[in-house]
Amino acid sequence: MKKLFFSLILLAALVSCKDSKSKSETTESSDETSQIFFNGDIITMDAETLEYVEAIVSQNGKIAFAGSKEEAEEKFGDAELIDLKGKTLLPGFIDPHSHFAMVSNTMGQVDLNPEPVGTVKNIPDITKRMKAYKQENNIPDGEWIFGWGYDDGQLVEHRHPTKAEIDAVLPNNPVYLQHTSGHMGVANSMALKEMNVSASTPDPDGGIIERMPNSKEPNGLVQETAMYPFVGNMLQILVKDHARHFDSTQEYYAANGITTAQDGMTDRNTIRFFQSQADAGKLKIDLIALAGYAELQSNLNDTTLQFKTYKNGFKIQGTKIVADGSPQGKTAFFTKPYLTEVPGCTHDCRGLPSLTQETINELFVLAYGRDNQLFVHCNGDATIDMIIKAHENACNILNQPLDKDRRTIIIHAQFTRPDQLETFVKYKIEPSFFTNHAYFWGDDHVKNLGKERADFLSPMVTAQRLGLKPTNHSDATVTPVNPLFTVWTAVNRVSRSGAIIGDNERTTPYQALKAITSNAAYEFFDENLKGTLTEGKLADFVILDKNPLKVAPMDIKDIQVLETIKEGVSIYKK
Ligand SMILES: [Zn+2]
Repeated sequence: MKKLFFSLILLAALVSCKDSKSKSETTESSDETSQIFFNGDIITMDAETLEYVEAIVSQNGKIAFAGSKEEAEEKFGDAELIDLKGKTLLPGFIDPHSHFAMVSNTMGQVDLNPEPVGTVKNIPDITKRMKAYKQENNIPDGEWIFGWGYDDGQLVEHRHPTKAEIDAVLPNNPVYLQHTSGHMGVANSMALKEMNVSASTPDPDGGIIERMPNSKEPNGLVQETAMYPFVGNMLQILVKDHARHFDSTQEYYAANGITTAQDGMTDRNTIRFFQSQADAGKLKIDLIALAGYAELQSNLNDTTLQFKTYKNGFKIQGTKIVADGSPQGKTAFFTKPYLTEVPGCTHDCRGLPSLTQETINELFVLAYGRDNQLFVHCNGDATIDMIIKAHENACNILNQPLDKDRRTIIIHAQFTRPDQLETFVKYKIEPSFFTNHAYFWGDDHVKNLGKERADFLSPMVTAQRLGLKPTNHSDATVTPVNPLFTVWTAVNRVSRSGAIIGDNERTTPYQALKAITSNAAYEFFDENLKGTLTEGKLADFVILDKNPLKVAPMDIKDIQVLETIKEGVSIYKK
C-alpha cells in the first residue's frame, strides 16, 4: 500500500514545479520588530533540570535574549511588549518521527476515528458525519467520498458498518471508509459497482469480499488484497489535491505546536515535490524528510541532493531503513516467542525481520562510508541485535571508530533490552521511542509478550538514566500528531483499559518535554539552531494555556496550544 501511495505522489510532484520567492525572504520582510514576551511560565528547556526565565526577546526571527524582564527592557527599549497573562511558553515542538505525506493524505477524507483521536462512538456517528461532509463541501452526486480511521473494536456496536447503512445516507455517491488498521474497509453499493465488485466476483488471492448472510451479495467489507483496488482508486483521487493538502497539513502540525515536522520515509519524487513547495516559499514550518533506503545508492550518487542542509525550510536529514514490522501485528522480530497465536506460524513464533543481515550490513556500509545519517525502524529486540551487528561490521570494514558522532537513530526501539541501551551509549546510537503504544496497544502487548516485556516498552527512564537523549514520537498517522499526547503517555503510561504499562518507566513531564524539544533537535543535528530558548537560536515558540509541569499528570493531554510562532512570525492562533 505504501508503494502505491508513493508512486501516486509522483504524479503530484510532476505537475507542481513552480518558482517564486524563498522562505527566508518572506521571514525577514515580515519580522523587523523585536518582541518581549513576559508574565508567563517561560520554560527554556536549556538545562538538565527545569529553568524558567522572566522574559524572552524575539528579534529578526531569532532569540535575542533570555533572562530578566528588567534587562530585556533595558536592552530592547523599542520592543513590543507581549503579555503572556500567565500562559506557558516553550520552544516550538520538534516532531521526532511522523509521516507528513500520510497525514496530508487524510486531509481530503472524513475523520471517523474513535476517541481520543476523533469523536466517533457508534455507526450513526459515522453515517451522520459522512452525510454532513457531502452537504458542507457541496459534493455533487457521483463524486467519491472517503472516510478514514473507523475502528469496529471501539464502536458501541462492535462491528463494521454495512453498505446498506451508508446507502441510506449517501445513495448517490460512491463511498469508501478505510479501517484504522489499514488492512480493510467498507464500500457502499455505488462504490462496489464502480469497482466492479458483485455477487459473481470471487475473493482474490489473499483477500476476502465479505458477503451477506446466506448469499453471495457483498455486504461492503473488503479485506486485505480485496481492498487494494479501493485504496488505489482513493489515492489516485486524493493526490490531485496534494498541493492544497500540503498547506492544510502544515497548518495542522502548526496547530499542534509543531514548528519542525518530519516525513518519515520519502521517495525521490516526493523529495522533489517537498523541495518545490519550499522553494516556492510555501513552508510555514520546517520540514525534514528521511529518504527511503531502497533509493540510497541513487540518492548518494545524485549531487543535487544535499543531505543535512536546510533550503527554504526543507532538508533531507538522512536515510530511513525499515528492519521489521509491528508488535501489535506480531511482525516485530523478537529473540523470544510471542505468547499468543501468530497467524501463519506454528513453531518458535518470534516474528520476522524485513531485511536480511546481509542487506542491512550493505546499507550500513554504504551510509557510514558517506556520512549519511541512518534512521532505522526496529520494534523487536532481535532486530536491534541485527542493527548493532551491522553497526559494528560497518565500522570494522570502513575502519571508523564505533563511537563516532553519527547519531544513528533507532526509530520506535519499543522492545529494546537494557543491555542494548548500554550498547547505544557506547556507540552513540539514540532511540526515538513510541510511548503512545502504552495507551493504544499496551493491553495487547501484555497479552502477546507478557508483563515483563510490555512493562519495558519504550523505556524512557532507563534510557535517560544511562545518559541517552531519547526522543518520543507519534508515528502519525499511526497515532495522533499531538506532541502533548506523547508527553501524556510518557508520563502516565496508562492503557485503554486503565492499566499502568511499566510503572518504573513513567518519566517526568520535564523529561517528556525534552523528548520533543532539545533531544529532538539533537536527533537532527539541529541543537545549535532550535530545541531550547537560548540566545542565537531560532525564535520558534509554542504558547500553551497551561503548564505541563504544573497540571495533574492525567490532565496533560487536555492542554491547549494557543499560539505557534515560527522564526518570530505567528503561524497559528487559537
Ligand atoms: Zn513510521
